[in-house]
Amino acid sequence: MIIRLKFKVLLIFSAFILIIGLYLSFFADNAHVVTADSNKDFIKWVDFRVSYDAMDKALKADIASVDEDVKLNWVELLAYLGTRYGGDFARYKSKDMDVLINKLKNGTSIEELTKDLKHYGYYFEAYSAVLGNFVGPYEIQVKDENDSSKKVWVKKYGLKVFSPIAAGYGYSHYDDFGNSRSYGFRRVHLGNDLVGSVGTPIVAVETGRIEALGWNQYGGWRIGIRSLDNMRYYYYAHLRKDHPYVKTLKEGDIVYAGDVIGYLGMTGYSRKENVNNINTPHLHFGMQLVFDESQKEALAEIWIDVYKIAKLLNRSRSSVAYNKDTQESERIYDIRFHNVPERTLHYNTEPAVAP
Ligand SMILES: [Zn+2]
Repeated sequence: MIIRLKFKVLLIFSAFILIIGLYLSFFADNAHVVTADSNKDFIKWVDFRVSYDAMDKALKADIASVDEDVKLNWVELLAYLGTRYGGDFARYKSKDMDVLINKLKNGTSIEELTKDLKHYGYYFEAYSAVLGNFVGPYEIQVKDENDSSKKVWVKKYGLKVFSPIAAGYGYSHYDDFGNSRSYGFRRVHLGNDLVGSVGTPIVAVETGRIEALGWNQYGGWRIGIRSLDNMRYYYYAHLRKDHPYVKTLKEGDIVYAGDVIGYLGMTGYSRKENVNNINTPHLHFGMQLVFDESQKEALAEIWIDVYKIAKLLNRSRSSVAYNKDTQESERIYDIRFHNVPERTLHYNTEPAVAP
């Protein structure tokens, strides 16, 4: 009797396992199909032509509305107008954004406003890829009002990305994206050149992971940093001869927005390492969008015009000071974020060990 019962249980159990197995294989197949389909769906190209004035106005509206009943989202504002202009912000009028903001403040949702705009989804996704992580809450140190030798932490909401040029260092730039370059093969300029003095501290624009660090025959000493959401790859090139970047930095390290990563220089255009072959000292600053890993390399790369972004970031400069012990420039006011892994810190000397 007991044996028969056990046999029955075994039979039911086996049937159960079989059904589960069939189920799993069915879903596994489906998952595979979905992956294959979604590979065709990612954005293949972005021509980022949002004007400085539009970004400036949308950013201010977003920040000003943080405690209001209707919280405005600057990326939504820009994506709505971008859809209306077919991406061409030469058509931008400040009045258009006022009209949109009024509609939103009067209770019409962005979903209602965009339900008949076929391309809104594309512009929202494209502009989110560029600007989506630029604004949010963060904590930063500021000078203590009562004692200027001390620093205190304050909570803020706003731009949490920085200009690549440290505070107090001069630079000049113009929109040079797409200009032709003659070194090597004929190619176009895929970034913005910030002309300044050799040794100017270069800071990380956004928090991210160092993906490339070393010599490249075009960029010279260069650093490539990937945003933590993997959407943006920041490229900082032509760094200083002999001491191009903060010595302790390694590939794989996490750096925070506003951290000093290296120094402006004139290296590059040489197969040989550590050679100054650039005429005018400058930082080449570039931003690549990555919707799919296949876009990381060669022909599928999407580099956007960052001139207007660099201009926007000028309002957010990281203050730095020279540290004689480490012989590096270091940020003065530290920053913290929620849900972001700790930055990687290496020490030049062994930390003191308790006896
Ligand atoms: Zn350049």
